[in-house]
Amino acid sequence: MRAFFLAFILFLSFNVYGLQKEIEKFFYTVVNDNKSFIFLEQLTRIGPRFIGSQGNVEAVLWAEKVFKDCGVKVWKEDFIAPRWVRGKLEVALIAPVERKLIAIELGGSSGTPKEGIEGEVVYFDSLEKLKEAPEHAISGKIVFVDFVMRRKRNGADYREGSRTRWLGPKIALEKGAIAYLMRSAGTGYDRFPHTGITAISYSDGLPAIALAPADADLLRRLKDSIPRVKIFSSSRQLAPVTAYNVLGEIEGKSREIILLGAHLDSWDVGEGAIDDGIGVATVLATACYIANYSLNRTVRFVLFNNEEFGLDGARDYFDRHKDDPHILALEADFGLGKVFKIRGEKKGLVGKVLKSIRRILKRYNVKWVEEKGRGGADISFFRDRGVQFIDITPDSTFYFDYHHTENDTFDKVQQENLQNITAFYATVVYTAATLKE
Ligand SMILES: [Zn+2]
Repeated sequence: MRAFFLAFILFLSFNVYGLQKEIEKFFYTVVNDNKSFIFLEQLTRIGPRFIGSQGNVEAVLWAEKVFKDCGVKVWKEDFIAPRWVRGKLEVALIAPVERKLIAIELGGSSGTPKEGIEGEVVYFDSLEKLKEAPEHAISGKIVFVDFVMRRKRNGADYREGSRTRWLGPKIALEKGAIAYLMRSAGTGYDRFPHTGITAISYSDGLPAIALAPADADLLRRLKDSIPRVKIFSSSRQLAPVTAYNVLGEIEGKSREIILLGAHLDSWDVGEGAIDDGIGVATVLATACYIANYSLNRTVRFVLFNNEEFGLDGARDYFDRHKDDPHILALEADFGLGKVFKIRGEKKGLVGKVLKSIRRILKRYNVKWVEEKGRGGADISFFRDRGVQFIDITPDSTFYFDYHHTENDTFDKVQQENLQNITAFYATVVYTAATLKE
């Protein structure tokens, strides 16, 4: 009722100054409210939400209920997704010293024969060095790529870290390697190894494995002593499954669509609290905050499924909806600190939105980077199709300590930071949906 009343006042006093005050009031209400934190706690109780798992099914039901309870129109859209199941993994150094190595398989990695596989380790400190290496140096051996990611506020090193994970196994396979080892694409100093997707598929028959930092360090120290490693894995590929994107929508006066997305699935380890529980909680809270406003534009919320293991949900959404009148898209799938940067061009609706929240940006030390937004993986299909993007970037200094590990759990998210992230997303979406031409 209060929101309805506010919207009515807004309608009567439609001028830039009045609107700015409304926007600021909206922001300060959200930044002091715990809705997204409550949603995150509920979601992480489910546990991991990997595609094809019971947790994924439960998360779909939960998200539908949250939209419904907030009075937002909700529906599901189905698609077919691959199913891979992690089994038992044993990685052991057998020469020049014997040691169990703490490791995790990358998604889609192949199982080994019962007796395991064993081989000499050949060392590379970067993906480029692996690319340059001749086939005879790799064939029949176990490749180890030791790229070290450093903590950065914008998480910049993940670009090379994820490239090492995505392309490394493929290159190793092409050169005849029998297994692929990498230093985890992460920045922690603990013994939590980081999983993630890679470009090879299960049928390629290559075990692809990430080592915890300490274990990668050990292998590096021994690299000149012809280390040998033994690997056993019982991971399996199963029949594809039906999965669902969950969509919510608040209709505005115009059919022009503002899309806000995050991904509902997570890896099969941890609780997916930061990846992408933060994003899911942000999207659902935003929907609840603006559900009762009278909007000029339509806002569509998309909880994409299977971002992690193939982007199938994003592809399905694009196939079904590419001709819908999207004008602005945002994705919440990165960072766990406070927002420090927003990227968006000065022209069009994006420019108007960011100008309207300038005072908030200043107060919270958020830098407006006046460039075209790039979007994240799920909305990347809409890049260069006339849809504007705004990128909201929370501090990611510690994000890659936990990302894709057993250690991505609820306790890593500070309530104050989540409320800050939610407030920026919700306010940008609210402003974009409210502004007149
Ligand atoms: Zn993610």
